[in-house]
Amino acid sequence: MYTYALKGTIAYTPEREHFLIRENTYLVCENGKVAGTYDKLPPHLAGIEVHDFGNAFIIPGMCDIHVHASQSPFQGIGQNIENGKWNTWFDRYAFPDEAKFRDPAYAKAAYTDFVKKLQTTPTTRVCAYATSDIEATHILMDILNEYGFAGYVGNVSMDRNCNPELLRSTEETLHETRIWLEKCKNGVGAVYPIITPRYFPTCTEVSLAGLGKLAQEFQVPVQSHLSESRDEIAWVKSIDPTLAYYAQAYERHGLLNGIPCSIMAHCVFSSKAEQEALKRNHVLVAHCPQSNLNSSGMTAPVLQYLDEGIEVGLGTDVGGGNTLNLFKTIFEAVLSTKIDRANGMAEQKKRILSLPGAFYLATKGGGILWKSGSFEKDYCFDAVVIDDSRIKDRNQRTVYERLERIISLSDDRDIVRKYINGREVYRKGA
Ligand code: FE
Repeated sequence: MYTYALKGTIAYTPEREHFLIRENTYLVCENGKVAGTYDKLPPHLAGIEVHDFGNAFIIPGMCDIHVHASQSPFQGIGQNIENGKWNTWFDRYAFPDEAKFRDPAYAKAAYTDFVKKLQTTPTTRVCAYATSDIEATHILMDILNEYGFAGYVGNVSMDRNCNPELLRSTEETLHETRIWLEKCKNGVGAVYPIITPRYFPTCTEVSLAGLGKLAQEFQVPVQSHLSESRDEIAWVKSIDPTLAYYAQAYERHGLLNGIPCSIMAHCVFSSKAEQEALKRNHVLVAHCPQSNLNSSGMTAPVLQYLDEGIEVGLGTDVGGGNTLNLFKTIFEAVLSTKIDRANGMAEQKKRILSLPGAFYLATKGGGILWKSGSFEKDYCFDAVVIDDSRIKDRNQRTVYERLERIISLSDDRDIVRKYINGREVYRKGA
C-alpha cells in the first residue's frame, strides 16, 4: 500500500443529520485508511500521486448489511403474488432457487453475476446470505474477494421447515458450520464468515444453541431475520408459546450479541420488550424499507429506533427487495417515513428521515461493523467516484442538489471508480 489522494467534490456524513460537502478537496489514503481531507496538500504530503476527478463526487463506499446473494438470480420476480400465504414466496421462489446452488458450476456462474452487478453500485461492503451448501458458500466468499469486496458471508443454517434440498440434519448443520469456520475464520481476503440461522422457524432449539456456542467460540458476528411480518410472528409464537418476544429465541442462545455484533433484518413489528433486547445486546438493525413494503406493506419504526439509540444500517434484501443499489434504498428509507407520517404513527407524526440521515445509515450506520462509511481519519478507505454529468440539467445547481439528484437518479453508468481498503477495485470502461 502507498499514500495517494483522490481529488474532487467529497461528500459524507460524519453526523447523522448533516452532509459535509467540500469541492476541490483532497482525500488522502494511507495504508488502506483515510489519512485526512485537505483543501491544499500539506508539505509532508507534497508530491504524492493525485487522481483528480474534477467536480465529480467522491462518497464513502456503502454497506449493504442484508442481502441474499443466492436470491440475486430471481431479483425483480415474485413480489406480486396474489393471495399468497407466508410460505408462498419461499416455496415458489426462494427455496427452489437456492437449491440450484448445490451445483458448484451454477453457484460459480450465478455468484459471479451477483458480484458483477454489485460492482457498479455504490456498495463496497456486504453482509450476505449464501445457501445451506458449504461449497457454494466458499465459492461466494472467493468471488467477492476476487472482485475486491469486503464483508461477511453466511452459510445458511436450516434444520426444519424448508424444502428437502436445503434441509440439513441438526448434526450436519452444526458440523458443517464448524468445519467452515475453521477453514475461513481468518477471512478470505477481507471477506469473513458470519453465523447465519435463517430465522427461528427454520432452526431447531438444538441448532440455535449450537450456533450460539460456535459464535462465542470463534468470536464471529451473527445475522438473522426478526419480526418481519405478523404471520411470521404468529408462526414463531405457535412454535414456542413461552417466548416473551420473538428475539428471545435468539437471545437465550447467545445469538443476539455476536462479535462485533449481531445483525437483525427488518424488525418491523418489534415489541417494546424486543426493542429493549435489541438495545441491551447492541444489535445492529438492518433496515430494508423496500422489502418491508413488498412483504407486509409495512414500515419499520426506524426514527424511533434511532431516538432510542438502537444502531441501524440499510439492507437491500435482494430478492425480497428488487434493487442492489443502495441509493434506491436511501430514497425508500425516506419514503417509508413519509408513509409513517401520513398514517400518523404516534411518535413519527411530524418527522421524516432526512436525506443525510438515510445516507448516514447506508454508510456510517452499517459501517459500524468495520469502521467504514466515512472520510474521518482512520476509517477504512472505501470510496466511490460518481460523475453526474449524464444526469445534469441546464441550470446551476448547488452541490447539495447535485448530490440529491445522484441519489435519486444515478445508476451504474455514472460510477467511475471504486476503492475498497485503499485498493482500486473498479474502473469504468476498464
Ligand atoms: Fe432477508
